[in-house]
Amino acid sequence: MTDPIHRRGLMLILSSPSGAGKTTLTRDLLQDRSLDLTLSISVTTRQRRNSEVDGIHYYFKTKAEFDRLKAADDLLEYAEVHGNDYGTPRSPVEAVLNQGRDMLFDIDYQGTQQVQKRAPHDVVTIFILPPSMKELRARLERRAEDEADVIAKRLFNARNEITRWPIYDYVIVNEDIQTALSQVKSILIAERLKRARSAKGISAFVDELLEEV
Ligand code: 5GP
Repeated sequence: MTDPIHRRGLMLILSSPSGAGKTTLTRDLLQDRSLDLTLSISVTTRQRRNSEVDGIHYYFKTKAEFDRLKAADDLLEYAEVHGNDYGTPRSPVEAVLNQGRDMLFDIDYQGTQQVQKRAPHDVVTIFILPPSMKELRARLERRAEDEADVIAKRLFNARNEITRWPIYDYVIVNEDIQTALSQVKSILIAERLKRARSAKGISAFVDELLEEV
């Protein structure tokens, strides 16, 4: 069903330390067609994992290619995370938002701060915390896709990332994935209904209501 009230698209940012369950949440949100979310696919200089597909999980780039995108101002935001470069291509985001549709981002706190600065009224940010550091380590090890030194680095970095929660609008502890998922959906649904996102659309709709005989 299309919404009778036109509104601007919003940018929904999910951040968390690696292993807090953000990838599963993102996948489940995208699978729910009723939410009509489009994932922003980042560019990165990180090595592709065996399970990853270029153009679906990331656009894998060389450092020179990444630097060219940066220099051409083709990235909405970018940051170095765990020693690799990551960035958000700008034009797909603009295309989706201009259609009044919403974009989902899986980016870190540095990128979040940049997007918040550029588009403070169009961004909704959620930080996902693990229930415990023990569980975070277990999830990273279960994934078994990264080498031991990479896991150690991610665990070390997680301590820094976790302290960034105050810049986010919402904070969720992901103890149970279904609960966390329904919490994210509730946030999205409520944010979509905010008056400020669709003042013009509401005004037009109310004009029509008042003209009805
Ligand atoms: P991973 O290497 O596990 O896929 O991602 C590592 C971290 O990089 C995650 O915290 C993820 O949110 C972040 N990340 C992924 N893409 C981007 C991006 O385009 N920009 C920023 N700033 N961070 C990103």
